[in-house]
Amino acid sequence: MLHRALNVRNRHPGADHTCRNARCQQIESQLHLIRCVYITPFWTAIIDFVRIVLSLDIRHLPHERTLIFGMRSSDDFLPPAARAVIRHA
Ligand SMILES: [Zn+2]
Repeated sequence: MLHRALNVRNRHPGADHTCRNARCQQIESQLHLIRCVYITPFWTAIIDFVRIVLSLDIRHLPHERTLIFGMRSSDDFLPPAARAVIRHA
């Protein structure tokens, strides 16, 4: 997520910046895509997939750090395969 230049709504001056999830009324930004309560179940499933399929210990970090920076603890990065899965989610 860190290096993406996603076409989120807050990047367009004068346009509607509301999250494209119809139930959400927050401003859509790249960070919001991580924090949106309606998208969080998807990210949780991705982290669970990485944890289970790749047999990784991802400690209880805020999932923002895992998804944005590819970290599995406060001082360690996930292995490349896990970062690749997250990058393509
Ligand atoms: Zn939202």
